Amino acid sequence: MHKGAQLSTRTTPQLVLFDCDGVLVDSERIAVEVEVDILAELGWHVTPAEVVERFLGISDADYLAQVKAQVGRALGPDFLAEIEPRYRAAFERGLTAVPGVEGLLETLEEAGIETAVASSGTRDKLRFTLGHTGLWERFEGRVFSATEVEKGKPAPDLFLHAARSLGVDAKRCVVVEDSPAGLAGALAAGMRAIAYAGGLVPLERLQLPGVAVVTDMCEVAEQLVGRRSGCAR
Ligand SMILES: [Mg+2]
Repeated sequence: MHKGAQLSTRTTPQLVLFDCDGVLVDSERIAVEVEVDILAELGWHVTPAEVVERFLGISDADYLAQVKAQVGRALGPDFLAEIEPRYRAAFERGLTAVPGVEGLLETLEEAGIETAVASSGTRDKLRFTLGHTGLWERFEGRVFSATEVEKGKPAPDLFLHAARSLGVDAKRCVVVEDSPAGLAGALAAGMRAIAYAGGLVPLERLQLPGVAVVTDMCEVAEQLVGRRSGCAR
């Protein structure tokens, strides 16, 4: 296959899999503040930057394992359920969609490209955050949670599960992620990956071989359909 043909295959994805937190909804800034408070109450004093470094994009199970190891005592069986309302309350107060997401989704729909969500969050959390920002209806029936697979990101399982469920070959999928763990999972799944660096993770941590790094959603549209339509600028 000559170079031009490869390029044209690359530029026509069939399915775009979006991470949720930090890509579709601007939840990470809020979650990090809540997280710093919760860990401090457990006697583990971390900075917001450390929270980003350690926990961004990982599953609840992996988070829990780290906290247990660090705090040095068993947490109650209902620990996650007990802290959940604190995130909910903070999200209720300030959660918004990531700027440019609506326009991007419209652009992809016009181009005939399917979209879905592949998130480390639970289905319940996804229902809430996507619902709160008006995005749930757009993705209903195409929302996949790490709770549906054995291994969360950085394993490829969730992305492969989403693609398989929608009957799309991994090679025709593109993943938009804002965490190194998510990008690693996408690459391990054999999918093209775009890093969204408009959030909390430093841009240089997202610069992985073969990954396009963008700083706004208009650039994602440019990467996927070659134009910035649907974007404010
Ligand atoms: Mg994320």
